[in-house]
Amino acid sequence: MSLVLHNSLTGKKEPFEPLDPNRVTMYVCGPTVYNYIHLGNGRSATVFDLLYRVLKELYPTVEFARNFTDVDDKINAAAAELNAEISVITDKYIAAYDEDMAALGNLEPTLKPKATEHIGDIISTIEALIERGHAYASEGHVLFAVDSMADYGKLSKRNIDDMIAGARVEVASYKKNPMDFVLWKPSTDDLPGWDSPWGRGRPGWHIECTAMIQKHLGETIDIHGGGSDLLFPHHENELAQGTCCSDHSGGYAKYWVHNAMLDIEGEKMSKSLGNFIVLRDMLAEQPHELVRVALLSAHYRSNMNWSEQLIHQSRSLLDRIYTIKRDSADIAATPVENFIELPFAQMLLDDLNTPKAFAVLHELTNQFFKAENAEQQAKLKGEIEAICNFLNIAQLEPNAWFQGQVSEGDISAEEVEALIEERKQAKKNKDFARADAIREELAARGVQIKDTREGTLWSREG
Ligand SMILES: [Zn+2]
Repeated sequence: MSLVLHNSLTGKKEPFEPLDPNRVTMYVCGPTVYNYIHLGNGRSATVFDLLYRVLKELYPTVEFARNFTDVDDKINAAAAELNAEISVITDKYIAAYDEDMAALGNLEPTLKPKATEHIGDIISTIEALIERGHAYASEGHVLFAVDSMADYGKLSKRNIDDMIAGARVEVASYKKNPMDFVLWKPSTDDLPGWDSPWGRGRPGWHIECTAMIQKHLGETIDIHGGGSDLLFPHHENELAQGTCCSDHSGGYAKYWVHNAMLDIEGEKMSKSLGNFIVLRDMLAEQPHELVRVALLSAHYRSNMNWSEQLIHQSRSLLDRIYTIKRDSADIAATPVENFIELPFAQMLLDDLNTPKAFAVLHELTNQFFKAENAEQQAKLKGEIEAICNFLNIAQLEPNAWFQGQVSEGDISAEEVEALIEERKQAKKNKDFARADAIREELAARGVQIKDTREGTLWSREG
């Protein structure tokens, strides 16, 4: 069975057939680097990390580019506030983004292009659009002429007249049609700018992605991804630019993949509702792999509801896996021969069906607990390990997991160890009343203990 993906362009699930199976290309729109990213951005990045991992299982080479938008009016405003160069802002938040990705356990993309390092490519792409009659210069700006493209709106399924009637479009003297969008705009002396055939200025938002794709990945790429909030105008405009800038017939991207948004306890996340969650705050509060499991647990095309219950469920799945890992240390896992043939992987091949895939993983842990002999356990352990390695979860030592989840007011690890030592001595001295009292005291303080041949193991209650 091969990969099936939902294509936003056709609105259907389709078999994934790359243009060149020896070099699969994927581009995902990255962050505008002027602040820390929120939990919803973390979800999007983790969904595409999963897709990248699936593609890498199937194809020998996957070129995955994710850009940094490092020139933008919001960045300019943040820099102006500090009276600093924009690089002071962008360097800081690029580093923060990379740290957040590593904390989430996401792989590095093969390419991380920055807009400011592609100004020459952006200018050439704009020149090609002008030459081909799809863009025009006006009052220091260059605009894409939406009327020049017969099927503008086909990705987001909008038509130009409805857009003008319904949307708050910016009517400006330099635009021929109010829907025309900016490819290049003039910069005053106090703003970052580059010399161009249209005077000193800076790129509009959409053009950088098109220019970087053409430069690094090719005229037609296999997969273009991002959040569903980018469908319009960003991806629609990218598609227009990428289709019109040359004669290629393959289109701009074969498959458009969009992840849905993230709600908090059933409500849209927004600063005005006071429920806005910065990703790194959540990563400071919860184990990183718990956040990763939670972000992957909903189907990527469904809105995800971030809730206490979701955190609880994710912890419970990891607890089960770590329990197996801890209690089966003496069982050698049977290696998995072909990962992609596992039922877990088959669920992912069906348009990244993570809810079903996680259900398979959960069922494997059930089977392990019910297994009747070591051979069955070895096989199940092998499968569970292969899945966890693929997902990049449950990579800690079991004790680090069970003992590491400390919240405020919790008993410290040192104190637990001291009490366990005291209990050991009490048992040695046949003072069983004291030994039991220590067990009860630990239980009352949220710590479970278990006596094994290797000594007493302990864990905190989730
Ligand atoms: Zn983009």
